[in-house]
Amino acid sequence: MPSRTRPSAEWTLAFLADVVAATLERAAERGLHAAIGVVAKETSLSPATVAEWVSRARAVQAAPVPPGLLFCHDCDQPMILLQLPGCEQQYLCRPSCGRAPVSAALLRDVIAKAVLDHTPHLVPRGKTADAASYALGPVQRVAVGRTASDLHIAWRLIPRQLAKPTLSMASRLDYARRQADAGNPAAAIEALRTGLLHSDPAGGIAPDSATARAATLLAELAVAEGDPEGVVPWAGWAHRSLKALLGVTSAEARDALKALAAVHRRAGNLTLAASCYSDLIRQNTEAEGPRALPTLAAQATLALVLHQDGQCLSARQLLARTVAAHLHAHPHHRDGPRMSRALDRMRNTCIEKRHNHESTSSD
Ligand SMILES: [Zn+2]
Ligand SMILES: [Zn+2]
Repeated sequence: MPSRTRPSAEWTLAFLADVVAATLERAAERGLHAAIGVVAKETSLSPATVAEWVSRARAVQAAPVPPGLLFCHDCDQPMILLQLPGCEQQYLCRPSCGRAPVSAALLRDVIAKAVLDHTPHLVPRGKTADAASYALGPVQRVAVGRTASDLHIAWRLIPRQLAKPTLSMASRLDYARRQADAGNPAAAIEALRTGLLHSDPAGGIAPDSATARAATLLAELAVAEGDPEGVVPWAGWAHRSLKALLGVTSAEARDALKALAAVHRRAGNLTLAASCYSDLIRQNTEAEGPRALPTLAAQATLALVLHQDGQCLSARQLLARTVAAHLHAHPHHRDGPRMSRALDRMRNTCIEKRHNHESTSSD
């Protein structure tokens, strides 16, 4: 068990809020793990202590109110869930305004009642006691005034139905994969969208790899469902995040790049798709070698994209080279005949559409 810092009299809620907020800010640049190390060093706390405080503030499983929902009415900073040893949980903004903390239990009760009064249909039967965890469905944000009963609630114009709001990101990812494997992609997509509700793909990177992989899976499922337009930012965010968190040639970053390439291809951004597949070929080559199946598969798909984009000769030459390399390295693999048929189709399309390419011997 990692050692924690012994509690000190200097620990005030304001100090805890500062440590948590500083860590979350840095996490958007370099990931949570690295951010915890840096802030622990700066504050002379043990990394385990910083990790514990941050994880309490971020965790959705037992949060009184969903993280990211509460803001201070005075200074407009996020309200952070904090707990001093031996005390009850409280919410406080990053200490810029000098306000008093608010009891987390009281806030939870007031918000639960508001949700049940305003949108009872968004709280599933049997979940009334957890009504506050469904607040992200109907509520955009809550500005917390002086007390727990002085709340300024901004309701969403179009409420969202949430799927399992108290699942951790790691469990959510497992759940979504199981749903997708069982032929229920819609449930998987709903669960992933709920988990990503408070992430901003236009902002920094994902704080951890589970969150970034959730965005990859969302992109993959949306492409399979024929709905790639809305997930372009998520696929890009997943790839940026996993490159930074795990390295550019990690399996996870390459999965995200493959998803990004597929999203661009399905959305008709063929130039961007081709550039992603070219990158993917490079990363796969570095990680697994030039003749590895993922490398050759990416090469074959790049050829299809080039052909779609009207670059017929480059496409046919690339695919012919890939078919030959595949046959040589993986003579009995089922993708070999599939690639050969794709090459035949490509040549036939050129003939049918009377492209009149100069005939070359290399394809
Ligand atoms: Zn404040
Ligand atoms: Zn052609």
